[in-house]
Amino acid sequence: MIVNQGYRFALDPTPAQQRALVSHAGASRKAFNWALGLVKMQLDQREAERSYGIATGELTSGIRNLVRGLDAWRDSKSGKRKGPSVRFPRFKSKHRDPLSCTFTTGAIRIEADRRHVTLPRLGMLRLHESARKLARRIEAGTARVLSATVKRDGNRWFVSFACEVDKAERTPARPDAVVGVDVGVSQLAVLSTGETIANPRHLAAASRHLRRTARRLSRRIGPDRRTGQKPSKRWLRAKAELCHAHARVANRRHDGLHKLTSRLAATYGTVVVEHLNVAGMVRNRRLARAISDCGFATIRQQLTYKTVWNAGRLVVADRWYPSSKICSGCGAVKAKLPLHVRLFVCTACGMRLDRDLNASRNLAALASITGTGVAVYPQPQGWNGRGADRKIPTTGQVAVKRPPGTAPAGKTGTVPPQGETSNHELFRVH
Ligand SMILES: [Zn+2]
Repeated sequence: MIVNQGYRFALDPTPAQQRALVSHAGASRKAFNWALGLVKMQLDQREAERSYGIATGELTSGIRNLVRGLDAWRDSKSGKRKGPSVRFPRFKSKHRDPLSCTFTTGAIRIEADRRHVTLPRLGMLRLHESARKLARRIEAGTARVLSATVKRDGNRWFVSFACEVDKAERTPARPDAVVGVDVGVSQLAVLSTGETIANPRHLAAASRHLRRTARRLSRRIGPDRRTGQKPSKRWLRAKAELCHAHARVANRRHDGLHKLTSRLAATYGTVVVEHLNVAGMVRNRRLARAISDCGFATIRQQLTYKTVWNAGRLVVADRWYPSSKICSGCGAVKAKLPLHVRLFVCTACGMRLDRDLNASRNLAALASITGTGVAVYPQPQGWNGRGADRKIPTTGQVAVKRPPGTAPAGKTGTVPPQGETSNHELFRVH
């Protein structure tokens, strides 16, 4: 299976190399801004239609990103691109935008010791970690480097290689098993198997240290662009410490999420998750920090490609699927279930079950309705909050009423026919 995969390694550049990296990132930004200025000028002159046909091969890598940005904007405007609308590219700022630059041509290689990389114009750079995972693949002929990007993230420089990788065929350890994953704040994930994954709350754990470091930074003399004040050495040291503390939180979170999603994709043939409206959820200012600390959207995004790599299947329940409100025992649906109620008590059959476990079992049951996979639990008897007639056909369309007050314009999705190889199925109810 040929997939595009990125490999990222931390760098340990010398001070002279750091200056060269900053300089190249600056040149990349300069090229981006210059070309954007040109495009804007030409758009003003009503030459919009053909103005982004800049010969990309002729120009430096900064422009490649601009071309991508302009393409995204044009496709979004003409309706060719899905998702939220893309705005016209902005000029890059020295202060706002991360320093980065991409190389697509020239000498890009990992040295034989696997601790150095060679990049065009920058020469040989020492890596902070070993690049053996990618080096082995390149030596075996199962990976081809397409481009290399250097980027400063916090206080550290990274190089990432965009690669075309020929991955070995894999199958999940339990190809017939279905697992429903209910993500939440009190527990990071509750699986329909009964397993719970505690929420590590990395940000909350580090909050005291972060607060103290930020306070110390604010008490030192920082840069001021209006007066031309240069930052003091003590301010720079405190700044570096704060960056490091934040990077550490992010690293720990990523590590935990990757381990969880890798295990799920490698074990279960079918993984069922919910499509949560995370952007909407973080608008609740009391929950925003706790939700952002979890990485809900990252779990779904990682499962999307990891289930493909493992030849598994991912079923994504529509965001309106009331997984918490259905009784996983008898299928009765509650009209309301406030967030603080942690125990699901069914008024129809008297079942008592942990709220999140009940939700994850409902998600697992969805896999059977989509046609393939093995159902572990009985199908819900009806998802209608008001107890109206059940409309779950065995094939074709699935039509279920959404609880009142939560519905946008009616959406209907079709259930893929049995045996379809589509990995990522968006399971919609309306
Ligand atoms: Zn029940």
